[in-house]
Amino acid sequence: MTRNNPKLCIIVPCYNEQEVLPETSKRLNAFINENADVLSPDSRVLFVDDGSRDDTWKLISGLSKSSPLFTGIRLSHNRGHQNALWAGMEKARGRFDCVITIDADLQDDINAMRRFVEAYKEGADVVYGVRSKRDTDTFLKRFTAESFYKLMKLLGAETVFNHADYRLLSARALDALLACDEVNLYLRGMVPLIGFNTQTVTYERNERFAGESKYSIKKMLSLAMQGATSFSVRPIMLVWLLGLMITFITLLAGLVLLIIPGMQLGFTAFSVWLCCGLIMSSLGLIGEYIGKIYAEAKRRPRYFIQDTAPEEQDGKPQG
Ligand code: UDP
Ligand code: MG
Repeated sequence: MTRNNPKLCIIVPCYNEQEVLPETSKRLNAFINENADVLSPDSRVLFVDDGSRDDTWKLISGLSKSSPLFTGIRLSHNRGHQNALWAGMEKARGRFDCVITIDADLQDDINAMRRFVEAYKEGADVVYGVRSKRDTDTFLKRFTAESFYKLMKLLGAETVFNHADYRLLSARALDALLACDEVNLYLRGMVPLIGFNTQTVTYERNERFAGESKYSIKKMLSLAMQGATSFSVRPIMLVWLLGLMITFITLLAGLVLLIIPGMQLGFTAFSVWLCCGLIMSSLGLIGEYIGKIYAEAKRRPRYFIQDTAPEEQDGKPQG
């Protein structure tokens, strides 16, 4: 299968990215110009300002006035990377042949997008950008990220190793993804579930061009927890098995301790503490799932759009 030059939308989530935006927009502009042989001239860049507190929106709206290539939406509040991506994808849906999501900080090699588009033209619906190495990440980042991929594998959730949110989706893959109704988003786990023709493109990841990481430890942990509990109920099963095992061992130990005179008291204290710990951790884990059900049941909108660039007339909030 060969497809025509696609109308591409490059979706860039931005949270307090005033330091990098001038350079990022320059390079995206150059990319589109240099790759005009594989792209439709109607391709666009869509910046999603995720409730930034700096001059990010000012820059985006300035860019949109300088060239029709640049468009933007501004969320009314900081909703996090995954929601910002979702907002961008919903905005782009139905108007483009494919979308690519890429971070604003130039860590992902922009030129790899040419290979994304080539794969699309050859029939791929989902193209994953996979990092060939992680030298430029800090030790902590690399260690936590790699342990997380391993944990996900252990839990039985399908994720692509060393792939973050740099990917291409064709219009039909985008429709399929956006048909998922869940409020707790973990795109890296959701995209593999939609299937279709899949390709990977490897690229070298650079250091952030400027500014600091917008993923605080808290945001990172919450994403990891989201991933682990959104795609696998194995943790609940493990707790259940552990509970059974401990009960069995405790019963055996209890019998032995009962036979030895004078040991009864020590055993009581030991077992009380052990049970306390077990019950609390199990409850906490179950609470995590109940928390998810709670968030899903409320069906709160994921975000609201405050402004668009260029400005649109019906500025109605979108859910
Ligand atoms: N980001 C966002 N909302 C947030 C945090 C981050 O839209 O609440 C964006 C950020 O502007 C960047 C991308 O998500 O384009 C990835 O963030 P960052 O580069 O800071 O994460 P890291 O590469 O350090 O994991
Ligand atoms: Mg980054």
